[in-house]
Amino acid sequence: SLKGSNDSKKQREKLPGGLLATEFDEESCLSRYHQSSLRKPSPYKPSGSLVSKLRSYEILHKRCGPGTDDYKRATEQLGHKHEDGSRSVGECRYIVWLPMHGLGNRIISLVSVFLYALLTERVILVDQRKGITDLFCEPFPGSSWLLPLDFPLMNHIDRFMLGHTHRYGPMLRNPAINLTTVPSSLFLYLLHDYMDLDKMFFCEEDQTVIRQVPWLVVKSNLYFIPSLWLIPSFQTELIKLFPQKDTVFHHLSRYLLHPTNQVWGMVTRSYNAYLSRADERLGIQVRVFSRPAGYFQHVMDQILACTQREKLLPELATQEESQVTSTTSRSQKLKAVLVTSLFPEYSDYFKSMFWGRPSTTGEIIIVYQPSGERVQQTDKKLHDQKALAEIYLLSLTDNIVTTAKSTFGYIAHSIGGLKPWILYKPENHTAPDPPCVRAMSMEPCFIRPPLYGCQAKAIKISPFVMHCEDWISGIKIV
Ligand code: GDP
Repeated sequence: SLKGSNDSKKQREKLPGGLLATEFDEESCLSRYHQSSLRKPSPYKPSGSLVSKLRSYEILHKRCGPGTDDYKRATEQLGHKHEDGSRSVGECRYIVWLPMHGLGNRIISLVSVFLYALLTERVILVDQRKGITDLFCEPFPGSSWLLPLDFPLMNHIDRFMLGHTHRYGPMLRNPAINLTTVPSSLFLYLLHDYMDLDKMFFCEEDQTVIRQVPWLVVKSNLYFIPSLWLIPSFQTELIKLFPQKDTVFHHLSRYLLHPTNQVWGMVTRSYNAYLSRADERLGIQVRVFSRPAGYFQHVMDQILACTQREKLLPELATQEESQVTSTTSRSQKLKAVLVTSLFPEYSDYFKSMFWGRPSTTGEIIIVYQPSGERVQQTDKKLHDQKALAEIYLLSLTDNIVTTAKSTFGYIAHSIGGLKPWILYKPENHTAPDPPCVRAMSMEPCFIRPPLYGCQAKAIKISPFVMHCEDWISGIKIV
């Protein structure tokens, strides 16, 4: 109806600064256009350059994506070497992303690969065999980002391991690649245990070689964007695209990632039941990396110390005060605390704490933990959907406390546009002092950057790339 179309026009006008394409059907992916109605407007606006870059990317993806003649031609060429200059200009080039490790690991590398695709005018295609369609909607209008299942290298992809002959790093040692014979495909290994030779990927000269290869296949679980900023030819363009440097993940994730209706249903039901009516929302993400993992009193103590010291949660009234405060509360402010963890005991502790005694401020505290899965079960559909729903719920809070070195937390605060308080890694089963630190920026940390080699100097002198608060050998954009 006419009314309906006016409504949807209004909805779309609320979209963040023209970031999203408008030609999608709304019902098929409710999160795409309705997310902004759950959020406070982001204070960070995408630049005009970013918006136009995305629009031209969409055109490229439509022209080169699966099912097109260009895609067909490009896959037929796989396995053939090119003599210099034999490829015509305007030919489509691709980058294939493979999901590795947990959901957070996957998302940071997916966003990194997408930015690399934007910068190098490649089409990103994602391996769909690990259930990405249960998690995310298609991001590009009139096309698909799913790598077709009959992709000729599908079997090679699975076998592509450390010593693979088509892996860029090892190839450099035994130079099969030079400027006159360009292979039709290259594997890039950018995983946490990669070698110095793999890290040559981040050197300007190597990029000029890699640029000519029609197909790149990437295995990564890293947020490698900070090191893209340190490649001079990329930096020029990145400054234009992101005048506010620490908004890269924030904008790109909001553009690229749209949870499916199944996941979005979980997000909105939780939000409406537990968070929407609160005056203020605090997210606490508790990831326990020790083996065995589980509930630990020193972790709980650390969370309490952090939230009280930083005045994120009120203190409890003493026994005597309790008698009075419970009946004559000074404030009726409702604060919702969203806890996410594999272990339900963390929120149980908060619940009984705030049930047993009133807060000194009189604030009313409601505590909610959506799930407590106990063990990581990556690639199980419902488990991954719960994890994604919780990441988005965390991103809808006003303040957020996260765990050091957790990509799960990185994503939540960055999507939300929030600078987190990061809980330091506990040592020797004791709560560290200070318990937490306020992050310098909302960007994720690149945990294993190339610190030596071509970027060594740039890291030392760059004013906007700093070592991470939670991991000193990591780097992040500030
Ligand atoms: P990281 O290991 O903390 O960097 O984060 P990842 O997301 O890559 O891997 C952890 C995985 O464990 C998640 O993807 C989930 O499968 C699971 N997990 C960890 N913490 C939580 C949590 O708070 N909630 C849920 N639902 N799952 C979690």
